[in-house]
Amino acid sequence: MMDTIVVGAGIAGLTAARLLRSAGQRVVVLEARDRVGGRMWTDRTAGFCVDRGASWIHGLTGNPLTDLVPAFGMETREFTVGSFQAGGRPIADYDESHRLLDDDATRRWISDVDTADALFQRTIADSGHDESYATAAERTLAAAGWKPERAERLRTFYRHRTEEQCGAEVEQVAAHALDEDAIEGDEVIFPGGFDVLPHALAEGLDVRTGKTVTSVSRSADRVRVDTADESFDAAQVIVTVPLGVLKTGAIAFTPALPDAVAGPIARLGMGVFNKIFLQFPRQFWQDGVYAIRQHGQAGFPWHTWYDVSVVSGEPMLLTFAGGNWGREIEGMTDAEVVASVLGSLRKIYGATVPDPVGHWLTRWGSDPLAGGSYSYVAVGSSHDDHDAMAGPVDGVLHFAGEATYGHEPATVHGALLSGHRAAERILGTPIPLSELTRGVHAS
Ligand SMILES: Cc1cc2nc3c(=O)[nH]c(=O)nc-3n(C[C@H](O)[C@H](O)[C@H](O)COP(=O)(O)OP(=O)(O)OC[C@H]3O[C@@H](n4cnc5c(N)ncnc54)[C@H](O)[C@@H]3O)c2cc1C
Repeated sequence: MMDTIVVGAGIAGLTAARLLRSAGQRVVVLEARDRVGGRMWTDRTAGFCVDRGASWIHGLTGNPLTDLVPAFGMETREFTVGSFQAGGRPIADYDESHRLLDDDATRRWISDVDTADALFQRTIADSGHDESYATAAERTLAAAGWKPERAERLRTFYRHRTEEQCGAEVEQVAAHALDEDAIEGDEVIFPGGFDVLPHALAEGLDVRTGKTVTSVSRSADRVRVDTADESFDAAQVIVTVPLGVLKTGAIAFTPALPDAVAGPIARLGMGVFNKIFLQFPRQFWQDGVYAIRQHGQAGFPWHTWYDVSVVSGEPMLLTFAGGNWGREIEGMTDAEVVASVLGSLRKIYGATVPDPVGHWLTRWGSDPLAGGSYSYVAVGSSHDDHDAMAGPVDGVLHFAGEATYGHEPATVHGALLSGHRAAERILGTPIPLSELTRGVHAS
């Protein structure tokens, strides 16, 4: 019998398993895929790295990844536009007629976003769980008293913000959903791929891939975890599968989960946010910009392209599809999606925009082992629901993963900290995060 079974070899599960193992526990990690990393997944087929899942550290200040990443010898590049910022770094902003905003207009736009964001926070100060981001945004814009065109630009910006940050429509997301979202410090990306981290954490652990867990049964002092061909017994279990998987009921819990955990699983949302990378034969956009952004109604369905050439060494743009559009593109062919993106780029840069020589598309919503991209605070739920989901249930069943970490859901570092929390709860004692790198020598 094991001490602890961990279900899922994403960053949350591997963090928990490594900390428990370093405290002397016998731990097994059961992972349905044929790889570790989960939503951290780097595609290296082209000879350079394309991160199909997470690619940014969202804010280096106070972030546990800031120390962890160099300890594993991972190289980073500053790229502080990963959270749908309006300013801070150079962005080529295009107006509703596809004309480049000049410096003054860009400054006014950034100032409008700052003003509206401050007003938004005051507007929602007394909002409960039932107000949507959409109605809060409308109340904010009404209070600002701006002319229609100025307000409309903000309105579409807010819509794209929830699509990107939550993978959901502005009407589905709670007004308070992004309260935790402030980025502290620079953001960075990884030329060598972000999934180096989960692979490094998995080293030396007993990880069994190809093991899809179908049921988890618990009694007062033990748990049994079933896969199609094998059962495992332990004193405790940590389930780290994504919220999207828990929502489908793909894992049967016996006895049934109590309302304290089942309620948050039902109430929280699982968003869809997909990436489209396009590799071009030559750069046709301006030098020195982190991103290109199309404002207003002209920004549907594509509005922001990030110049990620620094990762691949090739001229590459990355754009996103979140919310309803993110789900819709999963039913389209690659060629249809690429043609649609090119149509928008050609409205900005003209017909001479070349066809791409490579493309990468994700379909996280249709992935049965993800069931979406990340969790969000849906109308009717709160950040407390994230933490309530963690349990423990009857002292033996714990949940971890990004969806269980209310302070920083939907992030790699939130997932990591949720795994740390679960390990501490099992051991009943604080564990320094530095235990994750014990015995590691960065190359
Ligand atoms: C497109 C995209 C972009 C993102 N960008 C960023 C970013 O830039 N920065 C950032 O901080 N975060 C980002 N995120 C979020 C981040 O990737 C996640 O928050 C984090 O990786 C989640 O880790 P986890 O351990 O909670 O879950 P996962 O990584 O999903 O791990 C759970 C594991 O459980 C496995 N599993 C599922 N069902 C079963 C089963 N029945 N039996 C056994 N195993 C099962 C899965 O295969 C998976 O490996 C992004 C996510 C996506 C999808």
